[in-house]
Amino acid sequence: MIDIFPIDQLDLERKRVIYRVDYNVPMEGTKVSDETRIRETLPTILMMRERGASIVILSHMGRPKGKRTEADSLRPIRAKLEELMNLDIQWADDCIGDEAESKSKALGPGQILFLENLRFHPEEEKNDPTFAGKLQKHGEVYVNDAFGACHRAHASIVALPRLFSTDKRAAGLLLLMELQFLQKVTHVSDRPFVAVMGGAKIAGKIEPLEALVKLADSVVIGGGMSNTFLAAQGRELGDSLVDHDSLEVAKRILASNGPKVILPTDLVVTDSIDKPTRVETISVEKGVAAGLKAVDIGPRTVERFTAAIAGAKVVFWNGPMGVFEQEQFAVGTKKIARAVAHANAMTIVGGGESVEAVNASGFADKISHISTGGGASLEFVAGISLPGIEILQR
Ligand code: ADP
Ligand code: MG
Repeated sequence: MIDIFPIDQLDLERKRVIYRVDYNVPMEGTKVSDETRIRETLPTILMMRERGASIVILSHMGRPKGKRTEADSLRPIRAKLEELMNLDIQWADDCIGDEAESKSKALGPGQILFLENLRFHPEEEKNDPTFAGKLQKHGEVYVNDAFGACHRAHASIVALPRLFSTDKRAAGLLLLMELQFLQKVTHVSDRPFVAVMGGAKIAGKIEPLEALVKLADSVVIGGGMSNTFLAAQGRELGDSLVDHDSLEVAKRILASNGPKVILPTDLVVTDSIDKPTRVETISVEKGVAAGLKAVDIGPRTVERFTAAIAGAKVVFWNGPMGVFEQEQFAVGTKKIARAVAHANAMTIVGGGESVEAVNASGFADKISHISTGGGASLEFVAGISLPGIEILQR
């Protein structure tokens, strides 16, 4: 079991806490489309305020690649947090520099300052110690609840806590709860353990998936992820999302653990995601014609996947089965959500869009644990050590 410094051991009275969260929530324009990740930090925020702390919130959003972009601003998230807490929350346009520093210094007990996107600075993703030193000026104590970012060795996750002594850095309540549940997956002896993978972030997930295949009894793969595997088998995928850089790993997984991998046998294809004029179900054998793309799993695949999930004792799900944001292509994801919810098993769902999809399906309260981390929960369950957790370990 992982032994990590918990927030309870910190002296928070009149301290400024640098609070790293993962508010990288799904958005529709400037509207938050799923607020789970924000809500789940409220217990830690309330606890810190009760204990007399002031709070400086740090988060990332999207992939602005070290440049300031309006689309990745955290302003709408700060507004959402204000609404959820019914409290004024201060704001600074940059996470480092004079404005942010003078505002953080002026905070009184219970007050909260929200800082702009960490990733507007390229140093964040480079784990730059000088940048971490600038962030350190905002507080005397460091608390991490950003489980969804703990698999990244970034400045606010690794270099920053390293600057605090072990009695001044800790995991928040959300991070502690995540670890409690996810450790059950890695430690239970209940079998079979079925992993369900989908989504669109292939490059970042295929390597942990390779580790996970070794641990799981079977791995059901749908969504964008399955396109890459089908392409690795030589199937025609037309204009579907395929990550060509991941084909080699996919081939390796199929060669070493092929019998454990359950792939789609039919797919829903369309000419356009936004304005579909053609929508058909095709067999994988026939392949996806040029000009069309796979956007959901087909009905035969739903049956196959449902049967695999129904027999499981532990289910871990990351990544939607299709472009569920479009009602028309949400069928497979909804049916898999239902299958996971009905399984007589310990069930864990992780990932920004996966959680959004499960919430939309109405089955969220039938899932044992909804994780705020996608890539992070996947790596954890696959037995990979997360740098953001390592730094907080005793
Ligand atoms: P999560 O956020 O749950 O970790 P990802 O970020 O990897 O999952 O992927 C989520 C996205 O995957 C969704 O926005 C969905 O539209 C997309 N997606 C799922 N299936 C496909 C597909 N076949 N083609 C393109 N995109 C897909
Ligand atoms: Mg996502």
